[in-house]
Amino acid sequence: MTQAGATGRLWIRDPLAILAEEAGGGIVVAGSRIVERVAAGAAPMAAVDATFDASRHVVIPGLVNTHHHVFQTLTRAHPLAINKPLFPWLKALYTVWDKLTPEAFRLATRLAYTELLLSGCTTAGDHHYLFPKGLEASVDIQVEEARALGIRAFVTRGSMSLSEKDGGLPPESLVQDDDTILEDSERVLALFHDTAPGAMVQIGLAPCSPFNVTKRLMRESARLADIHDCRLHTHLGETLDEDAYCLALFGQRPVDYLEEVGWMGPRTWLAHGIHFDDGEVARLGRAGVGVCHCPTSNMTLASGRCRTCELEAAGSPVGLGVDGSASNDSSNLMEGVRHALMLNRLTYGAERVTHLDALRWATEGSAACLGRADIGRIEPGREADLALFTLDELRFSGAHDPLAALVLCGAHRADRVMVAGTWRVIDGQPLGIDTGRLREDHTAMAKRLFGGP
Ligand code: ZN
Repeated sequence: MTQAGATGRLWIRDPLAILAEEAGGGIVVAGSRIVERVAAGAAPMAAVDATFDASRHVVIPGLVNTHHHVFQTLTRAHPLAINKPLFPWLKALYTVWDKLTPEAFRLATRLAYTELLLSGCTTAGDHHYLFPKGLEASVDIQVEEARALGIRAFVTRGSMSLSEKDGGLPPESLVQDDDTILEDSERVLALFHDTAPGAMVQIGLAPCSPFNVTKRLMRESARLADIHDCRLHTHLGETLDEDAYCLALFGQRPVDYLEEVGWMGPRTWLAHGIHFDDGEVARLGRAGVGVCHCPTSNMTLASGRCRTCELEAAGSPVGLGVDGSASNDSSNLMEGVRHALMLNRLTYGAERVTHLDALRWATEGSAACLGRADIGRIEPGREADLALFTLDELRFSGAHDPLAALVLCGAHRADRVMVAGTWRVIDGQPLGIDTGRLREDHTAMAKRLFGGP
């Protein structure tokens, strides 16, 4: 028996290395939670029902992804969009994204969640803002797919309500009116949002960005978030174009806009958060606004460098996200950890940012962005969300510090992943998913909907 099960106690024993204090002998899992840390050379305090020998494994908390757009897996490396910065990239892709169907969205969700899981991610955050006609139940699809795979999901109900004719960027076919959006937000919050510790599904509200929603929608979303005790999420400070756009349309900078619409509080976390001046960093930190750093996307679109260290010092939680697969173009969060290390070293120097900082952003930092104290660290009382990597590939040969090797040598696929006390990946394979078939179906769908003239 290798599952912790409902009442059994599983000892994950003698790991090669573990990202937890005083746990050299491993940890004990019971039900969905971690119940004990075992010191090196010691045995658990009480008898266990099963043991997993982790002597080949580096054990870290399951990674927590705080920003993605899974539908974009269908337009990776798209000829219309490659080699462009954000606004031209977006405008090019808006012309094809209205072809998205529920069946395609289901495959995209399954593929991206599986990719995340295989990279060691146990909580999959997504920001879905595309609701063309026929795709009104996209949140429902994402919840169903997360439950089938067994990954923890943080689904944000995104939105766009300002089209080109009203000064926004997207075409008319991709926007909904404010009332339709708010009505559906209430529906999915009532259906799926779980505020209890250990929740497997949570919902957030996520108007897409200042350049495609109304101020009324921002204000009303904040009001709903208070009523339903949920988080608020949006893109902010991604590019300098956005600053200019905000100034032209609203006569204010993005952070002033955020303040005016009632979003400057600890319920809010922002995607990217790059172009903030010193005063804005201080204000965001004081308000406890979180920032999801998306290093791969920021380098791909040359958007800029997030001021991670200043934001953290000011009081903002900083997490990591892969961002949409059209600007990454993969959903590998472990790769994102490595990119975070490299990009931030370029910004701050080789001694200021370590592999442990990058891992912390992807685990407890991300959990803090989502307002979750029950995941993100390996300690008794927290959920047993774990990623276990072996160092058996050539790229790790000769490595000395196993935890540093994960990041520096480029670990990208977990050997085992546990979510809420249950193994969901064994020997590098996701349980219940035929990855070959999934890739074939997803590729065919991408070609059919978005390929060719
Ligand atoms: Zn994004």
